Amino acid sequence: MSTTRIAIVGASGRMGRAIIQSALASPSMQVAAAVDRWDAPDLGGDIASLVGSRSVGVALAHDLGSAIGTFDVAIDFSSPEATLSALEVCAKHGKGMVIGTTGFSGPQLERIRAAAKDIPICQSANFSIGVNVVLGLLEQAARCLSEYDVEIVEAHHRQKVDAPSGTALQMGEVIAKAVHRSLRDVAVYGREGTTGPRDGKTIGFATIRAGDIVGEHTVIFAGESERVEITHRASSRMNFAAGALRAATWVRERAPGLYSMTDVLAE
Ligand code: NAD
Repeated sequence: MSTTRIAIVGASGRMGRAIIQSALASPSMQVAAAVDRWDAPDLGGDIASLVGSRSVGVALAHDLGSAIGTFDVAIDFSSPEATLSALEVCAKHGKGMVIGTTGFSGPQLERIRAAAKDIPICQSANFSIGVNVVLGLLEQAARCLSEYDVEIVEAHHRQKVDAPSGTALQMGEVIAKAVHRSLRDVAVYGREGTTGPRDGKTIGFATIRAGDIVGEHTVIFAGESERVEITHRASSRMNFAAGALRAATWVRERAPGLYSMTDVLAE
């Protein structure tokens, strides 16, 4: 298989570094470009210094457009604003994208959907293979335990800026769809004070932000005298990075469209 040349958007962040590290270790990947904010402390330096490896001859830059001829697919783990700037560049030049950033507003998601008419985009709130397997388990559990109360508890590190996590929301979507409800109508995002008894149709979310937790999700299905819990724990970011690289190679060969990690894993 030929080498996939990637550009990394948000390269000096936690996920950006994990992707650089993973790509440098993979013979089928080439890091062709890496961009971050104009005021990122490592701007202009070799990206190898971000992961403590030997020089690879690629400098951390700010402008994705000026690197356009060097890469096949852009992998984005940054912020919604940075994703939309990269999207504009990629759509203009026919480059595929892998989008891992979370926390988009409705109109921002609409712009991603519109760009996917021109370029292939793989967007997922969670690129870990384990979480994508869990989504299938949740669908099955929700159908079989449709009378049980559903609560989703997620925990992440103290720097995470959006809540609940994109993965928790995706889990809620899968469960709601399996029992023919709309998450918009049944989600409860916090409880305080005199809340009254629980409405059986709701899906509750609870968020923990603490320390350096990489990412943990537990879905509780609670009925009379029994409780089922399905948990995923990420112990490092390398599983997200490996999934994003796999998606980049996959999306490179695809026609324009909006795909998910489920599509990648289906093959
Ligand atoms: P981070 O804050 O460590 O890294 C984000 C990087 O993006 C930083 O280096 C920052 O400088 C850069 N950035 C921000 N705004 C920018 C701009 N306007 N232009 C260029 N660069 C910009 O965050 P992180 O933990 O790496 O997470 C990044 C995103 O990925 C978050 O939305 C997070 O929720 C998401 N995430 C997704 C998955 C998944 O599997 N889909 C896994 C982990 C994290």
